[in-house]
Amino acid sequence: ATPMALLVGTGRGAQLGILIRGPEVLESTRRAQVVVLDKTGTMTVGRMAVTEVHPAAGTDPADVLRLAGAVEAASEHPIARAIAGAALASRPPVPPGSAVPSGAVGSAELPPVAGFVALPGLGAGGTVEGRSVLVGRARLLAERGVPVDDDVAGWQEATESAGATVVLVAWADAVGPADGDPAARVRGAIAVADTVRPTAREAVAGLRGLGLRPMLVTGDAEPVARAIAAQVGIAPADVVAGVLPAGKVDAVRALQAEGLVVAMVGDGVNDAPALAQADLGLAMGTGSDVAIEAGDLVLVGGDPRGAVDAIRLSRATLRTIR
Ligand code: ADP
Ligand code: MG
Repeated sequence: ATPMALLVGTGRGAQLGILIRGPEVLESTRRAQVVVLDKTGTMTVGRMAVTEVHPAAGTDPADVLRLAGAVEAASEHPIARAIAGAALASRPPVPPGSAVPSGAVGSAELPPVAGFVALPGLGAGGTVEGRSVLVGRARLLAERGVPVDDDVAGWQEATESAGATVVLVAWADAVGPADGDPAARVRGAIAVADTVRPTAREAVAGLRGLGLRPMLVTGDAEPVARAIAAQVGIAPADVVAGVLPAGKVDAVRALQAEGLVVAMVGDGVNDAPALAQADLGLAMGTGSDVAIEAGDLVLVGGDPRGAVDAIRLSRATLRTIR
């Protein structure tokens, strides 16, 4: 990719914390009509924390957290880090005098996982303590034919409506392929909450003030997406939820097919294809390298108001040039 150059002409872009990948980007920035905003890590801080563990009937909640944490310790996903961290924090106390882990999340103090599989946009799986464990969204369990009982499903619905992400934990009591073990059952669910960025609402209002239509896109469940959308000021009709990473690209394409010039703001590995597809890709500087590589423009400090500044600045700059 072209190296990032400071915003052409002035030091204004740099002052605002905006890096732009070349002067031609200004044109698409100026023309953007719709701004597709990723939820996790873009509208939210992207640092998740476990808020609740809900075991299925007859299951020890400590088992739910420990087995899920052991699998997630092998994953880089923000949800995975939260679950592994919580599992680590709740492990039995270390005997006095022994070395205390620094607090870094690692698999050392959790049971080892064998045959770990990352299932992007869905979850993860592996074998822990002789059980095939699957951790992820409802869609993943449905795909593997793992039934979810009414109690867990009901808790999931209520928790998601309050804006927290719910991850289901299933396992089979024997070693088998983690993905597709016919004996697996749901053993519980874990609620993970994120924090809406303090400037997200202002960013959405600012985009609207410039005549753009802000939309929210996420792989997370519809009720969670709607709860976050309400907090940042996006209407339910402008929310696309439950999509796989390819679904984010499809969402951008669908808007382009309507003749709209589409900007996309994202931070994750799963946002990179959509950032590339958009007429203008804005990457959060706090995001993954893959997303930053895919962006035309980088919001260095990870403040979504940078999208508003970038569009305002590009309009002003082009006015000066012409
Ligand atoms: P987003 O679009 O919000 O950034 P992703 O596409 O990464 O989310 O993931 C979509 C959904 O898939 C998550 O909300 C979660 O339910 C599930 N998921 C993905 N990866 C994991 C994981 N490692 N552990 C548990 N759940 C996961
Ligand atoms: Mg994200």
